[in-house]
Amino acid sequence: MRPKSSGKCQFCNEIISKSAMKRHLKDCTKRKEIIQQRLENKKIWQKRCQFYLVKIQAMHNKNYWIYLDIKETATLKDLDAFLRELWLDCCGHLSQFIIKNVYYLSKEALDDIMNDMYLVLVDKQPQMKSINVQVKNVFKVGTKFTYEYDLGSTTTLEGFVHETRPGTSKEDNIQLLARNTLLKTSCVECSTRKAQYLCIECLTEFGNRILLCPQHADEHGCGTKNLTKILNSPRFGVCGYY
Ligand SMILES: [Zn+2]
Ligand SMILES: [Zn+2]
Ligand SMILES: [Zn+2]
Ligand SMILES: [Zn+2]
Repeated sequence: MRPKSSGKCQFCNEIISKSAMKRHLKDCTKRKEIIQQRLENKKIWQKRCQFYLVKIQAMHNKNYWIYLDIKETATLKDLDAFLRELWLDCCGHLSQFIIKNVYYLSKEALDDIMNDMYLVLVDKQPQMKSINVQVKNVFKVGTKFTYEYDLGSTTTLEGFVHETRPGTSKEDNIQLLARNTLLKTSCVECSTRKAQYLCIECLTEFGNRILLCPQHADEHGCGTKNLTKILNSPRFGVCGYY
C-alpha cells in the first residue's frame, strides 16, 4: 500500500489526511473563530473583501500540497513570490502561470519574449499577459491553473480554486491554511530507518538521489560535508534547491 499523504492545519495544528483536509478547513472550530473575530472587529477601519480557498499541489508528486486563502485584490505576482519563498526559489529562475491558455509572465520575461524575433514568425502565439493582475480577474470557483517555476528544470504545480469566503482588507494577502507533512522515506542503505539526509555529491556528480538515515549518513563515503537535510519541498534536490 502506498503511504498516505497528510498535513497540518495551521489553525488547530491537527494532522489530517490530504483527502479530508478541505472538509476539515470548513469545519475547523479554530479557523471559524478567527474568521468571525476578524469580521466582527469594527474598531479598525476595514473593508469587506473576498478570499479564495485555493489548493496547490506538485503535478508530479502530489504528496506536496498546500491550502491557501488568497485575497481577491492580491496579484499573481504576490502568489508567485509566496510560492518561491515557501517551496521553490533556488536561483531566481523565470516562472509563469497558465490559466485558460493564457500565460501570465513577469515583466522581465515579457520583455525577453518581445525582443525575440522568432515569435513574430509563429502565427499561433499563445496569449501572454502580465503577472501583475489581481486574482479576482482570473479566479472563479472551479478555476484550474498551472504554475511553472524555472523553464529549464521545471517544477510544475497545479492549482484549483475551491470556494470563497468573506474576509476583511486588513488580513494578509495570502494565508497558509494547511501544508503537507513530509512523507517518510527509508534509508537506501538499511531500508528500515527514516532517511533524513541527501548526499549532494552523489546527486550532482552521478544523478543519484542517495537518502540516508543519520547512522548511514555518518558512514557514507562522500563525507558529511556533502550531506544536506531533506526539505519539505517539491523542488528539493533540483538545481540549487537543497
Ligand atoms: Zn484545524
Ligand atoms: Zn536554480
Ligand atoms: Zn540507514
Ligand atoms: Zn554520496
